[in-house]
Amino acid sequence: MTGGGSDITAAIARHLLSYVRRAAGDAAAAQVSAAAGLAVDDPRLGPGQHWISAEALVALADAAASVTGDPEVGRRLGEELFRADEAGANADFLVGAGDPGAALEVAVAHTPRMITVRRYDLVERSDEHAVVESRALNPAAAHRVHCQMLAGHWARIPGLFGVAGAVTEPLCTARGDDRCRLVVRWDRPAPVAEERRTRSRRRVDELVGRFEAMQAMAAELATIDDLGAALERIIDRAGAAMLASRFLVTVRPQADAPPSVFSAHLDADTAERAAESLWALGPARAAEDDLTSLGTPVVADIASRDRHLGYLAAFLPPHSTVRDIDERLLGAYAGHAAATIERVVAAEEARLQHRAATALLELSHSLAAARSIPEITELVTTAVGEITGCDVSGVWLLDEADGCYRLQAIRESSGLPGPRVLRIENPAEISRFEAEPAPFVLRRAAAGAAVGEVLDGWQVEECQVAPIVHRGRLHGLLATGSRRPLADSEVRSVLEAVSALAHHAGTAIDNTLLLEQVRHQALHDSLTGLPNRPQIEERARLALRNARRDGTAVGIAFVDLDRFKNVNDTLGHVAGDDLIGRVAERLGRHVRPSDVVARLGGDEFLLLLPDLDAAARAEDVVQRVLDALRAPFSVDGEALYVSASVGIACYPDHGDDYGTLFARADAAMYVAKAGGRNRYAVHDGATAARRSKLKLESELHRAIERGELRLHFQPQVALRTGAIVAAEALVRWQHPSLGLIGPGTFLAVAEESGLIVDVDRWVRRAALAQAARWQHGGTPLRVSVNASRHDLAGAGLVADVAALLLELDLDPELVELEITDRIVMSDEDLPSSVSGLRDLGVRLAVDDFGTGSSVLSRLHHCPVDVLKIDRTFIEPFSYPDPDTRLVDGLVSMARALDLEVVIEGVEDAAQAAAVRQVGPELAQGFHYHRPMPAEELTALLEAQAARTPGPAEVVPIRGRRARRARR
Ligand code: C2E
Ligand code: CA
Ligand code: CA
Repeated sequence: MTGGGSDITAAIARHLLSYVRRAAGDAAAAQVSAAAGLAVDDPRLGPGQHWISAEALVALADAAASVTGDPEVGRRLGEELFRADEAGANADFLVGAGDPGAALEVAVAHTPRMITVRRYDLVERSDEHAVVESRALNPAAAHRVHCQMLAGHWARIPGLFGVAGAVTEPLCTARGDDRCRLVVRWDRPAPVAEERRTRSRRRVDELVGRFEAMQAMAAELATIDDLGAALERIIDRAGAAMLASRFLVTVRPQADAPPSVFSAHLDADTAERAAESLWALGPARAAEDDLTSLGTPVVADIASRDRHLGYLAAFLPPHSTVRDIDERLLGAYAGHAAATIERVVAAEEARLQHRAATALLELSHSLAAARSIPEITELVTTAVGEITGCDVSGVWLLDEADGCYRLQAIRESSGLPGPRVLRIENPAEISRFEAEPAPFVLRRAAAGAAVGEVLDGWQVEECQVAPIVHRGRLHGLLATGSRRPLADSEVRSVLEAVSALAHHAGTAIDNTLLLEQVRHQALHDSLTGLPNRPQIEERARLALRNARRDGTAVGIAFVDLDRFKNVNDTLGHVAGDDLIGRVAERLGRHVRPSDVVARLGGDEFLLLLPDLDAAARAEDVVQRVLDALRAPFSVDGEALYVSASVGIACYPDHGDDYGTLFARADAAMYVAKAGGRNRYAVHDGATAARRSKLKLESELHRAIERGELRLHFQPQVALRTGAIVAAEALVRWQHPSLGLIGPGTFLAVAEESGLIVDVDRWVRRAALAQAARWQHGGTPLRVSVNASRHDLAGAGLVADVAALLLELDLDPELVELEITDRIVMSDEDLPSSVSGLRDLGVRLAVDDFGTGSSVLSRLHHCPVDVLKIDRTFIEPFSYPDPDTRLVDGLVSMARALDLEVVIEGVEDAAQAAAVRQVGPELAQGFHYHRPMPAEELTALLEAQAARTPGPAEVVPIRGRRARRARR
């Protein structure tokens, strides 16, 4: 259907055809419709509001006149129309008018809606007649049928009031007049019965009720969720109910969004312009102005309870009079439109909110499980898209060191991502964001070059950005952009969303960084940042698995810096740490990229050398590292020279698993040290035993330096009184990983390496110092110290003891040195130190008596005071009926030689009973006391002193000792 100006309602054509069909038959009707270019079954001739062109009606009328042979066929049409409408709405309106004149006036006002090509004016009206003049708007389109039709129609109107009417046409343009004039006459009517009038009123009310019911029904039908579809439906329905062909609806559901426009029978531009003038001028002025060119406008406001939403405009044919019912009807549809808009908008909002809430919930679930920053940024960018509906979004992470943001994740519906690195143009903004992480809009016009490039890449004019800040630290930016322009309210809600998401992202990123830091700390050495022991172990296992699969070799090199302790001792720990850091760095630079350098602690490093084509390759790498260490390190302005001893063990040649390889590399390192340091040694099975000894030796060396040695004291009791009268000092090693270890494990190594001298010197000082404490503390106790062969051979022992006695102000009689049976009984002459010690006034004991060659006669010439009978002699005492004769003999002989006797190793009650029977002066053994720390023994001594008031009997002085005392 085209421009309504020349269109007329198709109902006229329908009625004309039905008249022809009645008067001349079906064939005649078909002939007539064909003349107008209409098929008999043309849908426009069916029920509903349709329009045909004015020309088509004229053609129909002419054809009908010739087919029926009735030149006044137009009058028949008018009568036909009246009859068809008699039971309908118009007749009731007309009756409602009250009398024929008023009814005619209503009819005249209504006429341009049917015959849009003319205008009509009621020029005269009385109780008995009315005069209507009419002019064709377009003289070329004028036709007699229009006037005939009205004449036929209007002639019947007086009949509604019970009086006959007649119409004459004194002027007619078809006859050459400048206008048409129709005069309607009727008899002065009898007053319409009151009853009929109220009935008419009721019918009018009923009619209005029907319109309103239609509105209600339409509301029910409006289950359409799409706003555009709903509005189109509304104007479609309004069009069916009103005699108007053109409709326009323009609404703005969001106050700041551009209005949308829908129309019927208006082209898009015209509709757009009309809507614009409605919004700009308001309905009253627009109706006077722009809208009139489209017909006679009727405009209704579309308003919700609290807001004006837009306009619904209907365009009646030009020159129509706007009736109250038109406005009420349109108002009803406008009300329906408002309700629909409210519902659709609310539903849309709820849907968006639901979607946003779901997306947020999902996000927080997935963020909780996220373990890496890329994972987090990915999740957040996706969520932004789902929540805001924006086209593109991304996370830029701050790289403060590089002064830039780096694109970490992006989500886009289309288009190029733009540059991935964004230089920071104004570094101050970082602290500004950190202080106040408010979201903001970045506009193309205001953006610098770098941001502009991003916006161009994203194909957006502006983007909404929220700084990702957590606990006052900026991590990056979350940005999102839309390719369509957003209303202010939409921008606000996007900013809200990005801000909330940036907050989520900040928390998650911070947590992840924390986690990564903790993980890093757990796996890295804090001083050098190198992998630590647990991590290298893990990586070595992995390398070994790969090597087993690939048939390659893996080298493990244990690196220990030579004499590093000197650095700490002379330059301090800070310089020492500094040097360790530099060594670590240099090691890292001289291994292959696939190699791993780890710090095991102290000055020990481990090199993991995977993927070797042969085990020998490991030696090349290690030699390179040793060469690299040759250049001096500058620490505190001093050039320091560092060398290292390295032990190498390789898979598969020297072991299959990490534990074995590590131990063997470690042991080989000691071989390198023993070989003169600053070198490497490769594991070699034949000397493995020697290595572990070397290792122990090296550790013992450190033990003395680090103060890992401890002294325990084992009491000796006087059998006569049961009192503690002496104690033997016994050394222990508090090993950092092995715990407290006894001398049996390490003294052999110490003796072999000569370290025993250091051990004994330490023991002597500690033991004598303790003896002095007891002496000065009022619980004097003789302390017995073991002396080794080395001690006695060297010159230092006597001077050492002398110095200690002096320094500690210690009574020499409270000191006893134990020399083993083997030394005393050896063929060599007794070392001169023995007599030197005697001269100092300290006592000498023969330890482990009976385990050497035990030539008793030699003792006679020996300047000793005490005989300690080895515990092997009393072992049989635990058996029933012990044979004590041998020990009896030894004790009597010792007595003969004026020697005191101590029986060692008394473990149980049976042995103790037998020992008492034999009757030495002193006994020592687990049965009485185990070796114990000095504090424990002090407590025992104090308890003992409390029990026996008066000076304790310390030492039974007898024999040679008495002689010497006399000297
Ligand atoms: P030793 O001189 O014969 O010391 C006595 C050893 O016998 C100690 O073992 C002691 O704990 C243990 N013992 C004491 N009562 C009993 C007992 O009733 N039954 C048994 N089975 N054993 C008992 P420890 O402390 O392990 O010392 C072992 C050896 O190490 C010592 O034998 C001594 O030769 C040497 N030693 C200990 N301390 C030193 C030291 O400071 N310097 C030197 N050069 N040698 C030391
Ligand atoms: Ca001993
Ligand atoms: Ca002994």
